Amino acid sequence: MTSPGQKTKKKKKRRIPSGSREYYVRGKTGKRSCAICKGQLHGVPHGKKVAEISGMSKTEKRPSVPFGGVLCTKCRRQVFEEKAKVENGLKKAEDLDLVIKKFVESKEASK
Ligand SMILES: [Zn+2]
Repeated sequence: MTSPGQKTKKKKKRRIPSGSREYYVRGKTGKRSCAICKGQLHGVPHGKKVAEISGMSKTEKRPSVPFGGVLCTKCRRQVFEEKAKVENGLKKAEDLDLVIKKFVESKEASK
């Protein structure tokens, strides 16, 4: 049976003078996606190991904007437009899309 530590690893073969040897490599980490539209996020690291990312500075890890590293540019703009509409009485908070409502009412949006 596969040991739990090897489940996430990929098996590779490498030629050595006495034949071949199998070794394990960890896969690359995936690309980050937007929390609303699931589109690809820009300005966030991908394909790196956890240790490599933890050595990076804060601004290398995510864009310095509200919801940076969580929402894409289109969705962020939409959230702030909806927030402005609610604040100015053009729209009621109950009429918002439930997915967007969560972000409109969050602390991050009022920064
Ligand atoms: Zn999006």
